[in-house]
Amino acid sequence: MRIVVIFLSIISLASLWIYFTGSDSNAMANIKNLSKPDSTNQKGVNMDNKVVKSDEEWKKELTPDQYRILREKGTERAFTGKYWDHHDFGIYICAACGTELFESDTKFDSGCGWPSYFEPIDSSRIIYKEDKSFGMTRTEVMCAKCDGHLGHVFDDGPPPTGLRYCINSGSMKFIKKEK
Ligand SMILES: [Zn+2]
Repeated sequence: MRIVVIFLSIISLASLWIYFTGSDSNAMANIKNLSKPDSTNQKGVNMDNKVVKSDEEWKKELTPDQYRILREKGTERAFTGKYWDHHDFGIYICAACGTELFESDTKFDSGCGWPSYFEPIDSSRIIYKEDKSFGMTRTEVMCAKCDGHLGHVFDDGPPPTGLRYCINSGSMKFIKKEK
């Protein structure tokens, strides 16, 4: 009798484990699908043509806040950036190199205090990297052209991707477009 009980508990633990890790690996597969090593995206921008500058050069070109975020992987405080509550129609570009990163059509109100998007304009414009800082495992997102730190991507976003690109306002500039 005791053996049967132990056996049943092992089965239920195993199915729970499969349930939780299964949903997690689906989300990670989403992110991995996005980071295909494809240097030329559909819109014809070649990301092999990297922008490489010294720290001194970046310091001259960027504001102190932009430098801290983009080059030193800093994070602006929630609800303080320019774009977390910004709803104009247009395109968000990298503040360091001008690469077009996100469209306002993919922006949503996540309530987290940072501008949030469910997908980038093109996955080849983003580099994904595992980040184990602060005792957490997160996926860092960087600009593929200049390696500037943008923010992180999480798997709790809305359809159609289920992803939430949580981006520092200070790493981007906004270009308004006519509808
Ligand atoms: Zn850039």
